[in-house]
Amino acid sequence: MTTNPGSIRGVQVDVPLAPMTTYKLGGPAAWYVEVGDEAHLSEVLQSVSDDVEMLILGRGSNLLISDRGFPGLVIRLLGEFLDVTVDGAGFVHAGGAASMPRVARSAADAGRCGLEFMVGIPGTVGGGVRMNAGGHGSEISQWLVDAAIIDRASGTRVEKRVEDLGLSYRHSNLGLGDIVVATRFRTDPCGSLESEEQIREITRWRKEHQPGGTFNAGSVFKNPVGDAAGRLIDRAGLKGFRRGGVAVSEMHANFLVADEHATAQDVWDLIWAVRRRVAESEGVWLTPEIRFAGSFERSGDEHLGPEMET
Ligand SMILES: Cc1cc2nc3c(=O)[nH]c(=O)nc-3n(C[C@H](O)[C@H](O)[C@H](O)COP(=O)(O)OP(=O)(O)OC[C@H]3O[C@@H](n4cnc5c(N)ncnc54)[C@H](O)[C@@H]3O)c2cc1C
Repeated sequence: MTTNPGSIRGVQVDVPLAPMTTYKLGGPAAWYVEVGDEAHLSEVLQSVSDDVEMLILGRGSNLLISDRGFPGLVIRLLGEFLDVTVDGAGFVHAGGAASMPRVARSAADAGRCGLEFMVGIPGTVGGGVRMNAGGHGSEISQWLVDAAIIDRASGTRVEKRVEDLGLSYRHSNLGLGDIVVATRFRTDPCGSLESEEQIREITRWRKEHQPGGTFNAGSVFKNPVGDAAGRLIDRAGLKGFRRGGVAVSEMHANFLVADEHATAQDVWDLIWAVRRRVAESEGVWLTPEIRFAGSFERSGDEHLGPEMET
């Protein structure tokens, strides 16, 4: 095992990550590798020492990478992990890197319903399982049957049933070294017109209610029980509130949108400033849904409030 992943087959050094995220922000990966099949993934995992930090990068649509970059090994699944197929019994088989919108459309094309909600979530299935992504009244946990996970420690593939993944609102029990490589979803039979109509409706709703065409990572905070984070941020008078090149969206207050001058540090600072102000005026401590990679300058607001899930 090596503490210098640069010596492992296919690993590149100092690779910019910003273009691989929806914020288009953040510095480079110290080491970066694209793996196209399980054999290569296992080889990488077996070669790299436990001391090296590791990040699985999906579409970077729920991720804020530090301007200093990520000081470890970033792994991106491609190749066979992008595959999506629908079998004769109506199960959708999707690799860990398959895009959720593509899964939604493949199911619809096969005349299968249920996965339409994925059309509006611009991440991978692997990122979706980790986050238990959802919207429009559905979430991954309702449709996932099982997932194949390769864990960093053993490098072995384990099939886990949905009940074993601890899925709850934007949460799973997957550890940082657990990599979702394959998934199987159930679907309901229906006419493909019905499914296509729902996909159109969801796409229309998103265009009307979310700031499309901007750099963002969707909802930054989880909704507290019985309320909506966006409503609380709006009520606190924070629409348009900004730090540097990042502002609370005027259209949807749970979206923090970045302009071309933004830094990842601006996003970080704004997240904690919004959180403190919402707590002061609304009495609710919001929890970030977005995931962080690398290290950030402390703004002073981070330690306020209750402990948070990372
Ligand atoms: C415009 C917009 C709208 C959005 N709308 C929604 C929405 O309606 N509902 C919703 O839930 N989310 C939404 N999101 C957030 C985001 O798309 C989801 O959280 C998505 O599941 C993240 O997937 P990803 O592949 O981009 O993951 P990344 O952002 O790349 O990573 C997120 C986390 O998942 C981990 N991860 C990624 N791939 C794997 C893998 N194969 N195995 C294990 N761990 C992995 C990463 O290490 C990281 O911890 C939105 C984002 C945007 C930009």
